[in-house]
Amino acid sequence: MSSSHGISRRDFIRWAVAAPASLSFTSVFLPRLAAALQEAVKEYPIIWLQASTCSHPSIKNVILEQILPGRQLILAYHGTLMAATGKLSVDAAREAAAKYKGKYVLVVEGAIPTKEDGIYGHVGEENGKPFTMLRWIDVFGKNAMAALTVGTCAAYGGLPAAAPNPSGSMGLNDVFKMLNVTTPVINIPGCPCHPDWFIGTVSKILLYGMPQPKELDEYGRLKLFFGRTVHNRCIKRDYLDDGIFAAKFGDEGCLLELGCKGPFTNADCPIRLWNGGVNWCINAGAPCIGCTEMGFPDAHSPIYQRR
Ligand code: SF4
Ligand code: SF4
Repeated sequence: MSSSHGISRRDFIRWAVAAPASLSFTSVFLPRLAAALQEAVKEYPIIWLQASTCSHPSIKNVILEQILPGRQLILAYHGTLMAATGKLSVDAAREAAAKYKGKYVLVVEGAIPTKEDGIYGHVGEENGKPFTMLRWIDVFGKNAMAALTVGTCAAYGGLPAAAPNPSGSMGLNDVFKMLNVTTPVINIPGCPCHPDWFIGTVSKILLYGMPQPKELDEYGRLKLFFGRTVHNRCIKRDYLDDGIFAAKFGDEGCLLELGCKGPFTNADCPIRLWNGGVNWCINAGAPCIGCTEMGFPDAHSPIYQRR
C-alpha cells in the first residue's frame, strides 16, 4: 500500500528505523510510522500482558491512538486499556494465544510476582482458583515468537522487586528461566520506557525479524538505543572535563556529586530527549538516576549520592 507521499508503508518503516538516533519517532513521524505498523501487525499480532506496574502513559497513547486501529493488537490483559473485564477478557486472551500459536509477539509490562506460586498478582480464575500472572506468563510465553519487555520492571524487576520485595517479583528473563521457557526476549527498559524505544524496537522486529546477537548488549537491549552511556553524550561533559561540579541543585556544573548515574547508564536520552523532544533529566537539572539499568532502583540508591 502506498502512502500519500508515494513511498510504500514498508519502505517508510525501513527509513524510520534506519534513522532513530537523530529523529524523534513520537514527535516527528509517529502517526505515519504507526499507520505503516498497522499493516505489519496483521502478519505478526501482538499480545500485551500488563503485570505489576504503574503506567507508561505515552505508550498508551501510541496504542490507543495509533496502533489499535490495526485490529491485531490483542490486549490480553491491560488494566488501563481493556474494555472487556472478568471472564470475557480472560477467555479472549486464552483464545488469542491458541489461535496465533508461535506467530505472535508477546509484550509484557510490569514485574511478575512469583512468591507462593505468584498469588500476589492474578488475573481471572480457573476452577474457582486465582489464575496468576506467573501462569499467564507461562501460557503466553512458551508459544510466542518473541517477547518484549516494556519498562525496567518487566525487564529486570524494577521497583516491585526492590528490597524487601515481599511478592518475590522478577523481570521476565528470570521468570522465563524459572519456567524453562526459551522464547527470545528483547528488553526495552526505562522508568518509564521511552515510546520511541518501544515503537522503534517493534518496527525493527516486524520489518527485519529478531535482532542478531551482535545487535543486543549483555542485558538484552538493542544497542541502537542503549549502546552508549548517557555520560558519553551528556551536555554537561565540558563541566566535568573542567572540574566544575554542582554542589547543590541549581548550581552550574556536572551533576556527578549530586548522584548522577550517567556514567553507568546506557540510554540515548541526550539525543532522544523526552516529552516530545522538549527536555530530558540532566537538561532539567536532575541527575540521571540510571532508570534503564538492571538493579534499578536498589543498585543506584541512595539516588542523590555519588556512587
Ligand atoms: S551530569 Fe552526569 S552524565 Fe553528565 S557529565 Fe556529569 S556525570 Fe556525566
Ligand atoms: S537520563 Fe537517566 S534517569 Fe533520565 S530517562 Fe534517561 S536513563 Fe532514565
